[in-house]
Amino acid sequence: MKVSRFTLVIFLALVAVLICAVSLADNLTVETEPGLFRVRFSLPGENFAIVNYSTSDENGWFTVYSEDGQFTAESALLGSYEPCRLTVKIQKIDQKQVEQVKVDYPGTPLPEGSALEFQNGRKGVRDLVLTPVEGGFAYDFTAQGHGFVKLQIRATRQTGMVILYPDENYHYSGTVMVPHIYNASNVYVTIRSGKGNGSIGTGQTTKGYALLAKETEPAAGGRLQGVIVCVDPGHQNAPGGEKEPLGPGMDGYGSNAGGMAEGTVTRRRESIVMLECGFVIRDELLRQGATVVMTREIEEKRYSNLERDAVANDAGAHVMLRLHGDNNKSEKNRGFGVYYPVHSEYALAVADTDTYRSYGQIMLDALQTRKVGTINKATLDGTDRFVGNNWAKMPCFLIELGFMSNKIDDVLLSTPEYQQWLAESLADGIYELAIVRGVITPEE
Ligand SMILES: [Zn+2]
Repeated sequence: MKVSRFTLVIFLALVAVLICAVSLADNLTVETEPGLFRVRFSLPGENFAIVNYSTSDENGWFTVYSEDGQFTAESALLGSYEPCRLTVKIQKIDQKQVEQVKVDYPGTPLPEGSALEFQNGRKGVRDLVLTPVEGGFAYDFTAQGHGFVKLQIRATRQTGMVILYPDENYHYSGTVMVPHIYNASNVYVTIRSGKGNGSIGTGQTTKGYALLAKETEPAAGGRLQGVIVCVDPGHQNAPGGEKEPLGPGMDGYGSNAGGMAEGTVTRRRESIVMLECGFVIRDELLRQGATVVMTREIEEKRYSNLERDAVANDAGAHVMLRLHGDNNKSEKNRGFGVYYPVHSEYALAVADTDTYRSYGQIMLDALQTRKVGTINKATLDGTDRFVGNNWAKMPCFLIELGFMSNKIDDVLLSTPEYQQWLAESLADGIYELAIVRGVITPEE
């Protein structure tokens, strides 16, 4: 058969369209295949970027990291079953949009027909159990008479819908992957019948996504060997508020009912973000050989300031880091804060005020070694007002890791790679402080 060149060109063009929908807008490339899309773009000089995406049926966003400004990322499309348009927007970390493309998405073929028929007298969802697993959640429930259901998902960074099919007896079980949602984000689900679309059940995953630590023991031979660090993630998801004595040798009381910040973009609680950061910091310190104690590893229990300091004091910690996210009426403020105690008897026993301040300066300098863009706050302040600083018998700092009221800081504080930057910076500070305090000697 003789094929004309024209026909061949048409044919190849068709194949290209069918195999993958690719669009190139300057430097942004988006490829799709059933169930997912991939992006590739460059943003010279940037380490972090935001990928926004939407179809008619779902949308979401996530941050991506690159060492050299060349970004690649992939994300699942959970619930776009019909061929549709996929819009992808690239934003810098300050949320300024730099690129947008629309591409064809072929849709996700549904599994081979439903095994069960829809029945009359259908019942609502029963015995719903949602269990977080790494990168997603497992579901288990029955929905009598429903041949298939639509599971709608709402989480901090992603919304979507998946169609689920039952086994015999209208029992549904399996796993849904939502890889880009934050650690410990709650996932809210609504279950709708495949017929009629009405809600037949709701639920939510209530606890963490892989919040548990990876590391437990200090690595042998690290430069922080012999250093004991207490990591204190601020706040908790439980009511507090009783009065506590302000500090040893001090008059008056403080309270641990201090207001908690919430992410202006992420809407995440300071308590969960600090717990996440705390685990990353702990793991980095362990990797460098330090011994680490944490004041809390869960969200749902309240610990008073005195209880937290007792953890550090009882462990004989050489330094205590109290992790917080800052909050300011001016959304423009971003950066770091380091607060140290001044007049408590315990603080004065650690060092005279000038020396204590110099310790704080070490931590603040360390934090500022890896900045993203321009920060306008780098606060070092001695204050008597923090109960949790005053009762510590070792150098103790309340550290504001960023402003949750600022869009950039908020997103960064929930980005794993940035959390790792913070951890490495703080480890540098602890290393220097431990040398100054005579806990360790400098590496050769
Ligand atoms: Zn706080």
